[in-house]
Amino acid sequence: MEIIDSHTHWGSSVSMGTEVTTQELLRQAEQSGVTQIVIFPFPSMALANEKINERLLGEANRIKKFIPYYYIPEAMKPIPKEKGFYGGKWHWMRGIQDSSSNYETLNNPQLAEFIEASEEIDLPIVFEEELAFTEAFVRKTKSFKIIIPHMGMLGGNPIDFLHSFKSTENVYFDTALASPDTVMRFIEKIGHERILFGSDIPFGTMKWELEKVLSLPIGDDKKESILSKNLERLIGSNQII
Ligand SMILES: [Zn+2]
Repeated sequence: MEIIDSHTHWGSSVSMGTEVTTQELLRQAEQSGVTQIVIFPFPSMALANEKINERLLGEANRIKKFIPYYYIPEAMKPIPKEKGFYGGKWHWMRGIQDSSSNYETLNNPQLAEFIEASEEIDLPIVFEEELAFTEAFVRKTKSFKIIIPHMGMLGGNPIDFLHSFKSTENVYFDTALASPDTVMRFIEKIGHERILFGSDIPFGTMKWELEKVLSLPIGDDKKESILSKNLERLIGSNQII
């Protein structure tokens, strides 16, 4: 079965002083049976050196299991689709990483341009901000596909995210680090089509996170959607070989 990990960090982290190597990701994939791996840079690395996007793309060209995502820089450049990225990562834009959103970003004139260009490009973006910021952002969009990591855990209470976006078809969620009970509440409320398996390495492990999804009390067809089909649909499965 095709299993795609939709959320891992690759390379060095300036703020954490650690590195997730290609070998480590491939070792965990081998150990758990994951067939493809979405990779994006650590925020601190991307902010320190924008060239990390190019390096990450180069590594994905070398390692066929890797699916590269583009770190959206603070200049709010959209994903350069022609280069071979399959998605993007938006992380506390001009805010305080992992703790508070910068609401000025929502009034930035560049934002409308960014949203328009991104809707045209039509690739998903893993989007991490506080709930109120995310709600305001989503209100500005029509078809922008965003994936809220760990079911909103860092931006607020997952259940509040669930209530806010239950009827918003272009908002997806990944399962990384969320409890099985939380994942089940989401599936019961919005179905399985908008849920994606992710590990958030190095904060989670592929093996543990995959076992969590495999042991959910749902049918195999639903698991297959969460483990690969939903993401393939989002990024265009025919693009991946
Ligand atoms: Zn992450």
